[in-house]
Amino acid sequence: MGSEKVKCPNCGKVNKVAVAGEGRPRCGNCHEPLPWIASAGDDDFAEVAEKSSVPVLVDLWATWCGPCRMVSPALEQLARERAGRIKLVKIDVDAAPRMAERFTVRAVPTLLVIDRGEILARQAGAAPVPQLRTWLDQALSEKAGKEAKP
Ligand SMILES: [Zn+2]
Repeated sequence: MGSEKVKCPNCGKVNKVAVAGEGRPRCGNCHEPLPWIASAGDDDFAEVAEKSSVPVLVDLWATWCGPCRMVSPALEQLARERAGRIKLVKIDVDAAPRMAERFTVRAVPTLLVIDRGEILARQAGAAPVPQLRTWLDQALSEKAGKEAKP
């Protein structure tokens, strides 16, 4: 399991962020939360996504899929906007057939919000940023609502 270099959107310092791990990444310089973007496959999905301490936005995509190339930067934008609250995990379905089967992916992109392996929300097909943001925030607030109940 490696790490990726992430430039802090707040102060510009380049940080090393582990692909998997507890907690949520913060900038070593200004301590603001950093966007957390990782890739996973059949073998490391459990480590990278299911063990994540923040909800995970899963992007099931394929190299040959045109809409996936449009939705990918939109999701990265959301990962930056919601830094510290979500982790974005990208899965190439052709390289991860078990994931495609597990989540019954019939079309790409298929987007999921999962929390400790439980699916909170699901969306098939690309959508513009505002729509995806509303969808994501709704999933996150439903999760917060559940946790607030006794
Ligand atoms: Zn910083």
